Amino acid sequence: MTGNQTPNSIGLNTPARRIAIFSDIHGNYHALDAVLKAIDDEKVDMIVCCGDVVGYGARPNECVNAIRDRKIPVIAGNHDHACLLLTDISNFNEIAKAAVIWTKDVLSEENVAFLRQMPLTIRDTANDVFFVHASPKDPGEWNYILTMGEARTNFNYFNERICFIGHSHQPFIIENENGNLMCPSRPEIDLKDNRRYLVNVGSVGQPRDHNPDACFVILDLEKQKLEIKRLKYNLAGAQQAIIDAGLPRELAERLAHGV
Ligand code: ZN
Repeated sequence: MTGNQTPNSIGLNTPARRIAIFSDIHGNYHALDAVLKAIDDEKVDMIVCCGDVVGYGARPNECVNAIRDRKIPVIAGNHDHACLLLTDISNFNEIAKAAVIWTKDVLSEENVAFLRQMPLTIRDTANDVFFVHASPKDPGEWNYILTMGEARTNFNYFNERICFIGHSHQPFIIENENGNLMCPSRPEIDLKDNRRYLVNVGSVGQPRDHNPDACFVILDLEKQKLEIKRLKYNLAGAQQAIIDAGLPRELAERLAHGV
C-alpha cells in the first residue's frame, strides 16, 4: 500500500555520456560518502539512486542530505516508505523493524518531506533507461527478482533498453537477446545493440553478496560499457555509529560479512 501523495513516476530527458547508479544506502553515510567521492573521480554527467536511502544504518539524515544537496534523482524503496509509515512492516524481521522505528524518530521534518515526494519509478527517455527499486512489474509491491523466470517476466514491464533495480542488495547483470537470457558473472560488459538489460546495482550501505565492499554501477553510453564497481570504505566507522546509536548490534556485525 502506498500513500496517495507519493508520485508514481517522474521523467528525465537529458542525454548523458556517463551515468552512475547506486541503491540501498540504508543510512550508511560512511559508505555513501566514499561512493560519492569515487563517483566524482568517474566524471559522470548524471547520478541516479534506486531507493532505500534510509533504514538499518545510523546516519539517515546525513544520507538524505547528501542526496538532496547534490539533487540526485532518487526513487522510493520499501524501507523509505516504511520509515514514513507508508508501507506495512509486519513482514519485516525484528531487527529491520527496530531500525525502521529508530529511523522514523530521528529523521528531520524536511527529510521526511523529501522522502515522501520520491517517485516509485524514473523513466529516462533521452538515455533509454528505466529505474525502479524492486521490480518493473509491480513497483509498489516490493517483490524480489531472484530467478531467471522472474527476470524474464519483468523484461515485459519496461520498454527501455536498460532497467536498473536494487532491493536484494545482490548485484547482477542479465542480458536479453531476443528472449535468450544470459547472466554474465564478470562485472564489466560491452553493451550490444540487439540486447536489452536488467541490472541490479547492489547496495551501497549493506551488501548481501558476501562481499562487504560498497557497490555501484557506471554506465558509459559513449563507450557502450557497463561496470559493477566495488569500493572499500570506513566500515569500522559505520559499525561504531550503529553501536553508538543503540541500534541492534547485529546490524553492525553483518556489515563486515556482507550479509
Ligand atoms: Zn534495501
